[in-house]
Amino acid sequence: MDTATLTDDDRWRIALAKDRRYDGQFVTGVHSTGIYCRPSCAARPPLRRNVRFYASPAEAEAAGLRACLRCKPADVARDEAAVRAAIEEIRSHDDAPSLAELAALTGYSASHFQRIFTRITGLSPAAYARALREERARAALSGAARVNDAIYDAGYSGPGRFYKAMEGKMGMAPSAWRSGGRGETIRWAVAPTTLGPMLVAATARGVCRLSFGEGRAELEARFPNAELVEGGAEFEALLADVVASVESPGDFLHIPLDVQGTAFQERCWQALRAIPPGETRTYAEIAAAAGNPKAVRAAGSANARNNVAVLIPCHRVIRTGGDLGGYAYGLEIKRELLKRESGR
Ligand SMILES: [Zn+2]
Repeated sequence: MDTATLTDDDRWRIALAKDRRYDGQFVTGVHSTGIYCRPSCAARPPLRRNVRFYASPAEAEAAGLRACLRCKPADVARDEAAVRAAIEEIRSHDDAPSLAELAALTGYSASHFQRIFTRITGLSPAAYARALREERARAALSGAARVNDAIYDAGYSGPGRFYKAMEGKMGMAPSAWRSGGRGETIRWAVAPTTLGPMLVAATARGVCRLSFGEGRAELEARFPNAELVEGGAEFEALLADVVASVESPGDFLHIPLDVQGTAFQERCWQALRAIPPGETRTYAEIAAAAGNPKAVRAAGSANARNNVAVLIPCHRVIRTGGDLGGYAYGLEIKRELLKRESGR
């Protein structure tokens, strides 16, 4: 849900659901008791008629309310500032600072700091540092002369730890990634569909590219060193499955994918796959579902980095207010996909 367009009914539903992703977005004022709370306050729900919503603790206090002692709504801004400071600290060091060091920096106890960091970012400080290293490794790999240089540039202590951290994440060994798919066999075909010619390509692990209006040349540019093999008996079965899911949208979550993204991008892609067919979401909602409601821009770029159209349904993201927004393969295809999914 885009917080800029929340109605009071939305806020009430959020408060009843005690949805902590909205902590800091507004506060719930309870005029019968004279207190205000975070949306996620664990206290018993007040009666709707006693509730008014305020954009900030300051506004609630101006209306004569006091901060709830249980959920401490006025601390949200302080928590966020502490988390921001910690993130800067992590980003500016090759070696991740310890939890104790981060906690000391922010003035919280280690356990309390771990809790608020995880609540706000969706990751523990250690997992955040790990994800950051992976992201830097990917950025470096695309330009680095040698894989090992990239590994050390990214702040890993050695190749062993790097490969371990990458396991099950990229779906390709780092050397194959850097050299455009070297060592990979990618099977592919262009299938005619009612949406136009559709390129489907897959490694042994799953679909690595689905796009419209592309062919061998585009695939080669993306994976210049992979062995591209057109068709093949086993691939035909997968291809038929993919085409069917495009022609009559339904269940395609069983189709295996081979995708590579940062930890956050992968969570965004999972969030896209969780949208029921026939429904749409905004970038803000995807960011929230991926565990970081503030990372709206990053959710947008995760959408843009999606290699596998339709099966990672980035077409289900529209602008706040209902505008269709953009689509890599043209709005006509996006509109048609949404129309099919809504059954109209
Ligand atoms: Zn409270």
